[in-house]
Amino acid sequence: MPTAEPGDRPSDTAAARLTIDLAALAGNFRLIAARAAPAAVGAAVKADAYGLGLAPVATALHSAGARTFFVAWLEEGIALRRLLPDAEILCLNGLAPGAAEAYAAHRLTPVLGSLEEIAEWRATSHGGQAPAGLQIDSGMARLGLSAEEVDRLVAYRKPLEGLSLTLVMSHLASGDDPADPMNLAQRASFEKDRGRLGLAHVRSSLAASGGSFLGSDFHLDLVRPGAALYGLAPLAGEANLMAQVVRLQAKILQVRRVDRGMTVGYGATHRTTRPSRLATISAGYADGYPRSLSNRGHACLGSVRVPVVGRVSMDLLTLDVTDAPADLARRGAWVDLIGPLHSVDALATEAGTIGYEILTALGRRYARHYLPVDGTPGSQTGAAP
Ligand SMILES: *Cc1c(COP(=O)(O)O)cnc(C)c1O
Repeated sequence: MPTAEPGDRPSDTAAARLTIDLAALAGNFRLIAARAAPAAVGAAVKADAYGLGLAPVATALHSAGARTFFVAWLEEGIALRRLLPDAEILCLNGLAPGAAEAYAAHRLTPVLGSLEEIAEWRATSHGGQAPAGLQIDSGMARLGLSAEEVDRLVAYRKPLEGLSLTLVMSHLASGDDPADPMNLAQRASFEKDRGRLGLAHVRSSLAASGGSFLGSDFHLDLVRPGAALYGLAPLAGEANLMAQVVRLQAKILQVRRVDRGMTVGYGATHRTTRPSRLATISAGYADGYPRSLSNRGHACLGSVRVPVVGRVSMDLLTLDVTDAPADLARRGAWVDLIGPLHSVDALATEAGTIGYEILTALGRRYARHYLPVDGTPGSQTGAAP
């Protein structure tokens, strides 16, 4: 292998880098698998594996033992099929209108979610005999058979005859809150509908990340976490058992000394109240750093918390580093926007959103650095896949 000059490595010259710890990801998968056993774990890798990169993430999860994967769209399933020829791949968004033939062609399992979708699936060249999942709504009113559709199906004598249903599932609205009575109500509704449809013996699934931690009554045959694999806390307000997977660092481009009374950024929304040092950082809302963190967020310089001052702009943000040691706050130093002392969840809370939105919005121009599952020196890709 040619040895790279230090300056040739993308993360050395990059203005910002995103490190994705695939060993931590694999560890999170194993932790959930151990807790859920004997239930199996299917991994949710929709939306480019929550923004972290479908290929490296799915490959790492597969090497950790994952054999069932959930995507949202047909196109995501096709991309994943190329990566994992033998995995079971379910498409959560159901049958994309007019695209029914493509699922069987790529050995993808659509999760059928309405009578219309069932009819369209039956009308395919295989007559609906390719593997399919079925979603029953129990309180989301989003996808899945409604109560009325279940009633209509039950009224037919053999409603699902001829279909090869390999999974029947529903989705919890408040699975991240163990105290919410809706969890038990949804489980009861799902059990009842499965029974009425004669599907009590079909493999079943109810739990995403939160549900995976609500106890074995919610595991059924298969849990299907996404967020927790990527390090987000599965239960709101409880200690997070998951290892952090993501670190986001950006470089200081300049440190400026300014007087008291100086305004900062667009709209002059911040005015210094003392002589200050301001660090200009190479990341902005175009990189998924929320503009709502203007005058609200903070970053970490080593172990020192430094506040965001002024508005976050497209490519830049400004930190007040007056209280940070000068040897840390210097041109070229890395700042943690997300890191060991500032989790994705914490950043999301400051921004008034959820970790899911932060992850899936992570920008495309970071140097992406994947720490491998086996802990050997890092593999790198300069740009997003
Ligand atoms: C996204 C999704 C999951 C995974 O959810 P997390 O909260 O990320 O664990 C599971 N099931 C369905 C239906 C989903 O849409």
